[in-house]
Amino acid sequence: MSNNSKNKIIDSMVHILPEDFIIHKKDFMKIDLTFGELFQSPKSKISNIDELLNSMDKNNIDKAICCGFGWTSKKLAKLSNDYIIESYKKNPTKIIPFCSINPLWGNEGIEEIERCFEKGIKGVGELHPDYQGIINCQFSELKKFFNYCENQNLPVVIHASEPIGKYYPGKGTFTSKYIIELIEFFPKNTFIFSHLGGGTPFFALMKEFSNKFVNSYFDTAAFSYIYEKKIIEIIKDIIGIDKIIFSSDFPVISQNRIIQDIFSTNLSGSEKEAIFHENISKLLN
Ligand SMILES: [Zn+2]
Repeated sequence: MSNNSKNKIIDSMVHILPEDFIIHKKDFMKIDLTFGELFQSPKSKISNIDELLNSMDKNNIDKAICCGFGWTSKKLAKLSNDYIIESYKKNPTKIIPFCSINPLWGNEGIEEIERCFEKGIKGVGELHPDYQGIINCQFSELKKFFNYCENQNLPVVIHASEPIGKYYPGKGTFTSKYIIELIEFFPKNTFIFSHLGGGTPFFALMKEFSNKFVNSYFDTAAFSYIYEKKIIEIIKDIIGIDKIIFSSDFPVISQNRIIQDIFSTNLSGSEKEAIFHENISKLLN
């Protein structure tokens, strides 16, 4: 089964960047740890808004959440946030804007989210706990940030990865152990853990964690690179269909590939609807 115009689809994490990131790629890689790590391969792709809209059009995708990266440079964060907001203003029916900052920037970080919030952002992310230092900090240092997001009902998208398996650029080490500690520390925040949370949903089968995931969601970003597609059905059985959110991670992988892999699972039509648009819609203001 393939997508047709009847299926509503929201891609809950794509990345776009303005031309500056192509022109000044080498310099930007030096000033931002995350950008430097993610774009170390000459084959790594950078897409602009037109390329995204074109891909959405081809794949009958109604809306896409444009995320930033786990910036370590304030300058790059602002450049990227502004581009996402500008793209949203030009395409308000197609783009849902998220902004990104480093939660450890203190008041400056909050001010940047506030600035973006006033311009319409609906969430924050993708954060990268390794390069941003979140993995080594005391979670109490993140209180101001998470309290702000909780009060404004902003879901926070966080990069996650598997504790085993091959290295890939940007993999990082923010695995299930840290994810569970974070959601225990901030139980009222809404979290979306990327890349199926690096397998964290499996631990919902442990009795002590079975009710920890009330406000946590897991997206399918680039999952076809890492897992057999059967994982979607297995995670559904463990943690429930309402916890799984479709995202591609475009342009890292084609939107079509992830959509086809989800469509070709044995999930029912209504379960696919939940993954493709209903679950994320409930999280957005
Ligand atoms: Zn990621």
